[in-house]
Amino acid sequence: MTRVFSGIQPSGVPTLGNYLGAIRNWVPLQETHEAIYCVVDLHAITVWQDPKELTRQTREMAAALIACGLDPRRCILFVQSHVRAHAELAWIFNCVARIGWLNRMTQFKDKAGKDREAASAGLYVYPNLMAADIHAYHATKVPVGEDQKQHLELANDIAQKFNHDYGVAFFPTIEPLIQGVAARVMSLRDGTKKMSKSDPSDQSRINLTDDADTIALKIRRAKTDPEPLPDHLAGLEGRPEARNLVGILAAINGTLPENVLREHGGQGFGQFKNTLTEALVAHLTPIAAEMKRLLDDPYALDAALHLGAERARAIAEPIVAKAREIVGFLPAR
Ligand code: AMP
Repeated sequence: MTRVFSGIQPSGVPTLGNYLGAIRNWVPLQETHEAIYCVVDLHAITVWQDPKELTRQTREMAAALIACGLDPRRCILFVQSHVRAHAELAWIFNCVARIGWLNRMTQFKDKAGKDREAASAGLYVYPNLMAADIHAYHATKVPVGEDQKQHLELANDIAQKFNHDYGVAFFPTIEPLIQGVAARVMSLRDGTKKMSKSDPSDQSRINLTDDADTIALKIRRAKTDPEPLPDHLAGLEGRPEARNLVGILAAINGTLPENVLREHGGQGFGQFKNTLTEALVAHLTPIAAEMKRLLDDPYALDAALHLGAERARAIAEPIVAKAREIVGFLPAR
């Protein structure tokens, strides 16, 4: 069975963007693939995280993933720092990847902002750790949102250079799985920026923990333009906010934007936003309730994650041991 790997950072409450762009697509893969999903806390600390918050957010993210339909019995669900193989292989990859490759990463440029000199070294080598996450399992399919495509290309470059330099065919080529009409959900305040859990404005996103009133308020306040909705796709040209809301409704209803426009074209945003709010509330409030139930029993949640880590180690450790041998490290013990 083909092995799938994906990860998500516990750097805040998961958003509608994480859900539609990533998590929701992970669920059906449990049935058809050997699926491995990871809460990537090592990645999260590439920017400052308050330690207590990090612990809390790691549990919260795990609970969100389970509430969205990941079943720890049907997939391997674990926390990255519980499996040391990730950090170890990442070091080897730090020595394979070239500085020139990392300099081209647009996420680093975005996250480091103007003062690049002040960014952590971890943020710079973030894509090498991500490559290690995947290659430590010889996973070949990686479901992510559009924004992670460049990192997956780098992961392939690293694998290829490793194989070439050491004269082996050890790390396989990986293939991104970028699915759905909502591969990129945009901010509710600015249709040209992606919805992000780290955006300073909470109004810019829907969190999976938002209650019905909060969802309604955020959608009501979402930026739009004064024109009514068009009845065909071309009419969304140059209207990023309208495109985003239409895309969200299509994704939630499991249909295509053109069908949403066929049904709602000609409507003003007042009416459309009511429909959107209803759909979001119906879809998201059961997830929030299930998250709360899981978080009320942190011992059971931790136990599930510890079991996941054990299963992950059983796969990753032999692969990374082999990588050590290929590199020529003196066998330990
Ligand atoms: P992150 O929140 O950066 O840890 O991302 C976790 C996953 O969610 C990755 O696969 C991202 O591509 C995806 N993702 C994050 N934000 C969005 C968004 N606004 N739209 C679609 N996918 C997203």
